[in-house]
Amino acid sequence: MDFLFSPWRYRYLTEARTPAGQAADGCVLCAQLAAGDDRQALVVYRGRLAAVMLNRYPYTVGHLMVLPYAHCATLRTCGAEARHEIMELAAQGEAALEAEYHPEGLNVGVNLGAAAGAGIAGHLHLHVVPRWMGDANFISVVGETRVLPERLEDTYGRLERAFAALQPASGKV
Ligand SMILES: [Zn+2]
Repeated sequence: MDFLFSPWRYRYLTEARTPAGQAADGCVLCAQLAAGDDRQALVVYRGRLAAVMLNRYPYTVGHLMVLPYAHCATLRTCGAEARHEIMELAAQGEAALEAEYHPEGLNVGVNLGAAAGAGIAGHLHLHVVPRWMGDANFISVVGETRVLPERLEDTYGRLERAFAALQPASGKV
């Protein structure tokens, strides 16, 4: 595999980048967070300052993104509280994915800036990607071809329930 976090950007690069640049009003992630229908927008969990959503063009089944509600491009500008919550939600994502999909490993990472591979460079998002031995051997050669053994709406249902099950009775993250 050539670049750890590059394969999932292909579709977003062509579909999500707007001529207007990185303004929040052209941001596909802001639009998903504000859509009102979380199932439609693939938002599986909402925290206080950050949310978890499915990647619409998953690299593997269960590919999650954790992102702040605020449209901020970098770790340093999104604020300490949001940074903390993003990492807490990533930990919940790890637990939810392990409970539902039993992956052999996970990639957790952020691409900051288009040069680093960020498809949507204006809105910080942390990828949490379950991995299995050999899952990238074919994909890395073919590029955009991905093997998706499950429909997104099924993934949504599984991970929405898994996140709900992780919340303490006293309240959420
Ligand atoms: Zn945004």
